[in-house]
Amino acid sequence: MSTTSAFSSAPSPATPPATPPASSPALSAQFLGAGRIALVERPRPEPGPGQLLIRVRANAMCGSEKGQFRDGWKTTPGHEIVGVVAQLGEGASPAIRVGDLGAIFLMDFCGGCRWCRAGLTNQCLAKRADMGFSHDGGYGAYTVVNENIFFPIGSGIPADEATLLLDVMGTGGHAIERAMCVHADIRTVLVNGAGPIGLGVAAMARILLGAQTRILVSDYNAFRLRLAEKLGAEAIDLARTTVAAACAGAPDVAVDTSGKGSARLQAMEALAQRGVLVCVGHGEDLALDVSHHLIAPERSVLGSEYFPFSDLAKNLARLRANQAYLGQIITHRFPISDLAAAFDLFWKGDTGKVIIEQR
Ligand SMILES: [Zn+2]
Ligand SMILES: [Zn+2]
Repeated sequence: MSTTSAFSSAPSPATPPATPPASSPALSAQFLGAGRIALVERPRPEPGPGQLLIRVRANAMCGSEKGQFRDGWKTTPGHEIVGVVAQLGEGASPAIRVGDLGAIFLMDFCGGCRWCRAGLTNQCLAKRADMGFSHDGGYGAYTVVNENIFFPIGSGIPADEATLLLDVMGTGGHAIERAMCVHADIRTVLVNGAGPIGLGVAAMARILLGAQTRILVSDYNAFRLRLAEKLGAEAIDLARTTVAAACAGAPDVAVDTSGKGSARLQAMEALAQRGVLVCVGHGEDLALDVSHHLIAPERSVLGSEYFPFSDLAKNLARLRANQAYLGQIITHRFPISDLAAAFDLFWKGDTGKVIIEQR
């Protein structure tokens, strides 16, 4: 898949020098296991042919990093990366300039397989990397990426808010668009889980489906439920009530970000006829009574995994149009020197998105 058009009109913004002064240490996080994180100085990597050296400016923390935090990890984690181009490798597109700000797509897609050619780069058959998992990610000063996964942002959106283009808007919006593939009249959306992905789903439901759409968000966490309300959703406090009791008027779409089998089943049972359950959160199983849950009411169950690269351009326009609204999802910002403390806070749950910033 060519990304040339995405680069062609992006002006080179007047950003500070991409390369920090020589005295500024290039620290990278090493996840040692049991929640221990060491910040170590690493030499500045060299981009190879067709690659970009990215100076990381912001990386959003993600619940999917729990295993890396708990078990340790061989590469530098962090997969919601926004940074500036610090150096171009040999043969990299001349449309990309040193100093350009951009977001990094998690999956280094091949561009040539059946799904990439169809624009479904999140289903690539020959992925070369998952940034922050297989390759060094955003909890370090630098990351090296193949140029196809660099999405230029242009000017006007700060790096911390630009991270919203990734898991929050990208994954959240794709889940809603998956449901829109099979349902033409979505009036009520239920979101299981008010974590950052759930909040992203709720916000993108509002943006994609319109203000008249009723959005309900369920969780046990009062802080996160208040955030959902700020985004225009109705909160279902599972400490006080159940999804079934709260959903007067069955939802047309339920999006599960919790990964809990019981939550998925409750959502399925709450759905209206022709309703759609979209599973976004990895985790437990779902056992269905096919006749009762699916055939008679003509319901659907869909999976939704990350999002296609081409969604970034559409979501950048939506971010520009809804910057203050979406910005509410970010509640905390920390320097990388406070990464361990930031994770402690994040795992306690009284946060929206937490951003690790670097200068
Ligand atoms: Zn993530
Ligand atoms: Zn591919």
